[in-house]
Amino acid sequence: MIERTLVILKPCTVQRALCGEILHRFERKGLWFVGIKMVWLTDEILDEHYAHLSSKPFFQRVKDSMKMSPVIVCCLEGVDAIHTVRTLAGPTNGRVAAPGTIRGDYSMSYQENIVHASDSPETAVDEIKRFFKPEEIFDYKQVSFDYLYANDET
Ligand code: ADP
Repeated sequence: MIERTLVILKPCTVQRALCGEILHRFERKGLWFVGIKMVWLTDEILDEHYAHLSSKPFFQRVKDSMKMSPVIVCCLEGVDAIHTVRTLAGPTNGRVAAPGTIRGDYSMSYQENIVHASDSPETAVDEIKRFFKPEEIFDYKQVSFDYLYANDET
C-alpha cells in the first residue's frame, strides 16, 4: 500500500552538513518527497512529539538537542514507506546500528542519531499533521512510478 511517513533531519544532521547525503539516500531508494521544509522546533511541539518519552531521564536533554538549530521535516511517499524508512534509518543507537543504515553509517550516538522516522501508520498520520499544513503536502505525478514497482505491487 502506498503510505506517507514523516522524517526529521535532526539538528545534528543540519549542523554536520549531512542533509543532502541523507535526502539523497531516500531518493535513490525510490521514495519521493511530497512535503519538505525547514522549521525551528519548540517545546510545545516536542512535548507532543516525544510524549512517549516524558518519563525518561533524558527527556529534557533530547528536547534541548532538537532545538539546537532548525531541522528539516519531510513527508516521504512510497509503498510500505513507514517500515521501509525505519529499516533505512536503523535502530535508535547509532553505535549498534548496522553499516548500510543511515544511523549505522553516520551516527556514533544514541541521541544524536541523524533522523526521526514515524514508527507506525497511526503515528505517521499524527506526525504529518503535526508538522505540515494540508497545503504544504503535494500530490503530483511521479514519473518513475512504473519503473519503481511491478503493477501488482501498489
Ligand atoms: P526512535 O527515534 O528510534 O523511534 P525513540 O522514539 O525511542 O526512538 O526515541 C526518540 C529519540 O530520543 C531517539 O531518536 C533518540 O534521539 C532519543 N533517545 C531515545 N532513547 C535514548 C537513550 N536511551 N539515550 C539517549 N537518547 C535517547
